[in-house]
Amino acid sequence: MTTPKLTLSSEVKYLKGVGPARAALLASRGIHTVEDLLYYAPFRYEDRTRITRIRDLVPGQTTTVLATVLTCGLMRTRKGLYIFDLAARDPSGMLRCKWFNAVYLEKHKVFHSGQRVFFYGKVEQDPYGTGNLQMVQPQFEILPEEEAAEGDSLEVGRAVPIYESVGTLGPRVLRRLMWTALNSLNGAIPDRLPLSIRQRNKLPERSTALLQAHFPAPDQPIEDVSRFRTPAQVRLIFEEFFNVGAGLALRRRKAKAAQGIEFQKKDSAREAIRRILPFHPTGAQKRVLKEIVDDMCSPRPMNRLLQGDVGSGKTIVAVQAAILAMENGYQVALMAPTEILATQHFLYTRQLLQPLRYRIDLLISARKAAEKSELKQRIAAGTLDLIIGTHALIEEDVDFSRLGLVIVDEQHRFGVMQRYKLMRKGINTDVLVMTATPIPRTLALTLYGDLDFSVLDELPPNRTPIETRLVEEQDRARAFEFVREKVRRGEQAYVVYPVIEEGGKLDLKPAVRMHEHLSQNVFPEFRVGLLHGRLPSDEKEGVMQRFKQGEIQVLVSTTVVEVGVDVSNATLMLIEHAERFGLSQLHQLRGRIGRGSKKSFCLLLAEEKRNEVADERLRTMTETNDGFKIAEIDLRLRGPGEFFGTRQWGIPAFRIANLLRDQEILEWAKKEAMSFVEHPASREEFEAYVAYLRAEWPRRYGLAAVA
Ligand code: ADP
Ligand code: MG
Repeated sequence: MTTPKLTLSSEVKYLKGVGPARAALLASRGIHTVEDLLYYAPFRYEDRTRITRIRDLVPGQTTTVLATVLTCGLMRTRKGLYIFDLAARDPSGMLRCKWFNAVYLEKHKVFHSGQRVFFYGKVEQDPYGTGNLQMVQPQFEILPEEEAAEGDSLEVGRAVPIYESVGTLGPRVLRRLMWTALNSLNGAIPDRLPLSIRQRNKLPERSTALLQAHFPAPDQPIEDVSRFRTPAQVRLIFEEFFNVGAGLALRRRKAKAAQGIEFQKKDSAREAIRRILPFHPTGAQKRVLKEIVDDMCSPRPMNRLLQGDVGSGKTIVAVQAAILAMENGYQVALMAPTEILATQHFLYTRQLLQPLRYRIDLLISARKAAEKSELKQRIAAGTLDLIIGTHALIEEDVDFSRLGLVIVDEQHRFGVMQRYKLMRKGINTDVLVMTATPIPRTLALTLYGDLDFSVLDELPPNRTPIETRLVEEQDRARAFEFVREKVRRGEQAYVVYPVIEEGGKLDLKPAVRMHEHLSQNVFPEFRVGLLHGRLPSDEKEGVMQRFKQGEIQVLVSTTVVEVGVDVSNATLMLIEHAERFGLSQLHQLRGRIGRGSKKSFCLLLAEEKRNEVADERLRTMTETNDGFKIAEIDLRLRGPGEFFGTRQWGIPAFRIANLLRDQEILEWAKKEAMSFVEHPASREEFEAYVAYLRAEWPRRYGLAAVA
């Protein structure tokens, strides 16, 4: 039987040392091919470069010695415990090594006298007071007899790669597998990074990079290895970022080349805006609107992300853009992530735009079938100007007659795919995406690399900063008293709960039951409302309306109020089980208050039993209102993978690169990718690379197809 020649795309089960059981384990981590395996990078390295003479060993030290085995054997203690005991020496002295219960060492005759062995472990005083030193359970690497003393040792005498275990496969086994794979491939690792890019940036070849990322070359300073900054590591990180950057650049180039709508800056639009504008826009709002209008009036389709912290006043900017489109005779679609928010936008814009006689309606799945189909007909016939809705708007059977502008509010709730689906509804429609999640710069670069950016970095005037306090469970009564005082003076409060029904967890106070408790026992003198996602739509709407009109004074709610809800008289928010919420989510919730000129308070009620991370989240909330700062901390606490829940939000799942650690490489690689796409060194190189990217992009990075 001949074994097929191993390539990067070979299934990992063909690798020596991988049987069906191990293959299944690896598959559970998404490792199917040899390539997948090699991109399962070490998460850290252990410095086992320094070899210490036995005479220089100090108890407490963790180090490596190179010694020759003298005697060894299995012993049994009086308590019936097996100990494998070994004595070894180097020219300077003697060392004992012990392994508990290591019957296998005896059974498999692992050691015999005369072997040269690296031992790595913690040095201890021999407990029997012999004055000898010992290592308990040291890791070891036996040098093959024929090999020179500093041979290809994987375990010691080098920066040793440490992998996250895959089920029962520990770092040691994984190290062996990597070594076997790299040896079997024997350099047969095609390099996909364009040669011109590799040369200009002085990056090592891919096969060298992979080898040395797993097994750093001896001349690499251990500090560089640990920081993932050896040329080998940098090359792999660069490559991942380059691929994503090039993919986005290609997509962007395609979008820029497309013919879009060239809106006209009409006087009628200016006049309409003047009539309805309820306040003076901030400087930031004016600047951002100009950026949007310039895009809309250019012959290229707009793809712009408007980022602004909660309460920064994105809505009115969007409304002005909508007016421009409608005055040009086009339809506008405004999408929101929840029915509550869509409804609120509908009610707000209908009232605001009333003097202008646009035809505005609301399309959400909760509406009656007959109404919906009538709406769709009017959308198709062009007798509706502004259509507001949830993602029901992108369902296949909604056809627009002349869609000119799409506005997506609170983008972080939408997946990338949804965004593209909607964009395809119109012919190169202008798209404005708005997000309240202040995405850290690094993430924004990858997530929205194909969008232009506008930032609302100024809050509307007369805002008093929200004061946030942490309240321990035993002070609950005082917190309620505080709420009572404010509500008596005519202000309104949110009380937010993490869940709505009793699930498996008993210590969660369900909003429904708590609403009863609050309305009957705690605040019997107030009108207490309840809002949660499972209420029928019209009920939700009714509750929101009554809260807006001040009829409901205390609103018990789940996180459905998280986005967009705007009631400026609400100055209090009490968040129950605050320790259970993510940081960005707490910030979003808190953004519901502090919307008027009265001082607002956010009270975080927290369970005493909470871990350090929860503590840090809560502390951050009490210390800052700055959404960007909060997002950075959130990213650090959660790690990039979890920040949004990778796939869903279209953030590529990087295999080697780390968005926190590698920001500067990201910016470098992105710059290179852009210039590669715009000015490729040669046609052939460019085409070969694009072909590769097209094949790999969807699988590797889970994003929509390239150009
Ligand atoms: P977000 O950016 O969170 O969507 P909104 O658009 O809901 O913020 O605006 C928050 C509140 O601030 C709203 O009540 C809005 O009417 C008000 N607002 C927005 N811009 C201004 C401004 N320039 N001057 C005064 N109030 C403003
Ligand atoms: Mg908003």
